[in-house]
Amino acid sequence: MKLWQQVLIGLILGVVAGIVLGEKAADLKIFGTIFISLIKMVIVPLIFFALLSGITSMHGQGNFTRVGLKGFSAYILTAIFAVLIGLSAGILFHPGTGVDLHSILSSSDVAQPAAIAKAPPTVTEFLLNLIPVNPLNSMVNDNFLQIIVFSIFTGITINLIGDKAKPLKDVIYSASQMAFKMIELIIRLAPLGVFGYISWVVGTQGLEILESLAKLIVVVLAACSFQYLVFGLMILIFARLSPLPFYRKILFTQSIAFATSSSKATLSTAMTQLQERLGVSKTNSNFLMPLGVCINMDGTAIYLGICALFFAQAYGIDLTTQNYMMLVLTCTLGSIGAAGIPSGSIIFMSMVLSSVGLPIEGIGIILGVDRVLDMVRTTVNITGDSAITLIVDKSEGGLDEKLYYQKDV
Ligand code: ASP
Repeated sequence: MKLWQQVLIGLILGVVAGIVLGEKAADLKIFGTIFISLIKMVIVPLIFFALLSGITSMHGQGNFTRVGLKGFSAYILTAIFAVLIGLSAGILFHPGTGVDLHSILSSSDVAQPAAIAKAPPTVTEFLLNLIPVNPLNSMVNDNFLQIIVFSIFTGITINLIGDKAKPLKDVIYSASQMAFKMIELIIRLAPLGVFGYISWVVGTQGLEILESLAKLIVVVLAACSFQYLVFGLMILIFARLSPLPFYRKILFTQSIAFATSSSKATLSTAMTQLQERLGVSKTNSNFLMPLGVCINMDGTAIYLGICALFFAQAYGIDLTTQNYMMLVLTCTLGSIGAAGIPSGSIIFMSMVLSSVGLPIEGIGIILGVDRVLDMVRTTVNITGDSAITLIVDKSEGGLDEKLYYQKDV
């Protein structure tokens, strides 16, 4: 049986176990935790060596700069577009109108905002924080952006050395192969990990909160589905490829994103799937995917936009054009800054809300349904990274089209 079929079975069994066991399904989370811990064990060396090997295998500094600029601008533009989709969905469908925040807030199930009231960094802090003062520290603390900055700097330096660095390049390539092999072995446990996480979510999420926020959930789902179609359209227009193989072959990656709610934890799977099944070149995917996981979160951008309007409507606050422009800016920054971990964007929600004078107390309510919505937005996030990597790779002539269209892989 193929791995994706096993994952599907894990997912279905997880739903059944969650419904049957209820709160007791929390004990099954251990399977998910083991799976993610194993992935975490390899993720830092994988990012470092894969990114380095991607940069050092590019022919010439010009190529690196061009691919980097293309990827970076595509990531930022899709994030802005995603925020606009989120805001439009909020304006069209009014998810917050008629919601009685005060009665939900008084429910004891609601998480208290004090838990999430940590201030997001200022722009200066964010920029300063990009510099890995001690790269080993960045690795120990899982600081992806700093690891990326260090890898890019190291990669450029190795390229500048030229022929004399050839042995080093070979070692880097071998090390990246080793990290990929480790992930390949760990990923075999995916069905068990997915089972554990899904049964836990289904068994422990409060149904009452889900009901009172049903409209918000439906609007987020609708906007994310729309974004999902946009990715296909982008592949059709910019890469001139049928998006169908992409949709079919990305399912396995998406099932991991859905179950783990973490782009970081899905990164390695996404890279292997892109390379082995979709025909994306190692060079470009090793470089663009880690970058995307750090700075490109379209599902998160949509979510932040919709939530801002949800709260404005629930509190009966009218937003001005200036407020909307501010929201485009802060939601885009929030999606760039959010960490690819479960609920990684919540801390940025307070920045988004306070930027237009909305009270942040309501975030506690959102936390009640966040896990479910996080599963959906993380799926969109990793799909966006993969779609853009595919498009840029095609434009660079790296894509193996035969493999992309091949049915049986
Ligand atoms: N969980 C999301 C991710 O990993 C981030 C977020 O929106 O909370 O992509």
